[in-house]
Amino acid sequence: MKVIIIRYSEIHLKGNNRDFFESVLISNIKHVLSDYYYEFGRSNARYVIRNFDEAYTEQILDAVKNVFGVYSVSPAEEVPSTYEDICNAAVALTPVYGTFKVNTNRADKRFPIPSMKLSADLGGKILEKNPNLKVDLFNPNTVVSIDIRENGKTFVYSQVIKGVNGMPVGTAGKGIIMLSGGIDSPVAMYMMAKRGMTLRSVHFHSFPYTSMQAKQKVLDLAKIVKKYTLHMTVDVVSFTEIQTAIHEKCPEEYMITIMRRFMMRIAEKLAHKHGAGAVITGESLGQVASQTLESITSTNSVATLPVFRPLIGFDKDEIIEIAQKIGTFETSILPYEDCCTIFLPKKPVTKPRLSAVEKVESALDVETLVNNAMQSIEVVEI
Ligand code: ATP
Ligand code: MG
Repeated sequence: MKVIIIRYSEIHLKGNNRDFFESVLISNIKHVLSDYYYEFGRSNARYVIRNFDEAYTEQILDAVKNVFGVYSVSPAEEVPSTYEDICNAAVALTPVYGTFKVNTNRADKRFPIPSMKLSADLGGKILEKNPNLKVDLFNPNTVVSIDIRENGKTFVYSQVIKGVNGMPVGTAGKGIIMLSGGIDSPVAMYMMAKRGMTLRSVHFHSFPYTSMQAKQKVLDLAKIVKKYTLHMTVDVVSFTEIQTAIHEKCPEEYMITIMRRFMMRIAEKLAHKHGAGAVITGESLGQVASQTLESITSTNSVATLPVFRPLIGFDKDEIIEIAQKIGTFETSILPYEDCCTIFLPKKPVTKPRLSAVEKVESALDVETLVNNAMQSIEVVEI
């Protein structure tokens, strides 16, 4: 019978919490497979998908390998643990070129042939079928694996597809990610989901200064990353009144600094409203004027919750590499404006002093502006 073996990763380490981590992982795997028929089982420290429609093998493998907590997946043949069945399945996997070896794990000591001997024997059978192959025990192109389980069944497989690793989403608390249409914040979202956080997004837009396409782009990005976060809601906040007020009442070089503080205040309010314990941004140290240590200090000082910046030490190239891997890059580089690009000062302060920022900001009725923005929220379920 064709099956899919799922191996899991770091959660092995979680001692007493292991049951909790596993139950979240299993429910996440079932979530991504909700469109398919299958049976879910366990075998030692792995899960096994059985009785699925083989036509969907690739789709199931792809969905499962992208669930955080999954270490690897293998399409496999599950056969009764008899020499003949194992031999047929192993020979059927005979590679077409290069080098190979057979690796046997005999968990069931009732099986009469020791693992080394079985490997050598099956290696011989595979060579008989394709004499062009060579055995290489140290660096083979293909490893044919034989896993003889205690239940009288054996898995035979040669393909091990790497999963995304990380921790199951839902095991590390909840965070509000500040999601822009740029390259960085979708990557930041992926990174925190990878550590097991449940995420909800906030996006600030300045209609009519920013277009509906700019907002749609952010929703499109949220949809792409949802493959990893599993659930996604975006709170779209109107930022127009705040930006207009800053533009009118504050020196222009402080525009970005003060905008950032408003964004942070609103993100934090949303965190409290939705039971989240952290705010996440896509900032990377020194990338732009608003991401110097002084700028980050001035934004951070309005926050009381922890603010996570998973990209803080990344180069742009490294961020782009991840964006390409997770499929957000092409959307991120579409040329729609962000609210940060309107009223853009010619010379933003790069090293704002907190006391100066607070003084400049005192021209504004912060509380009313924040409350109005909270009233403006459009909740979008992705
Ligand atoms: P990104 O590529 O994520 O847009 P960036 O390099 O353009 O980042 P900034 O524009 O300075 O950097 O934004 C820094 C961070 O502030 C973003 O990563 C994001 O978390 C947050 N942010 C910026 N603009 C918005 C917005 N319109 N809505 C929500 N969050 C935003
Ligand atoms: Mg940006």
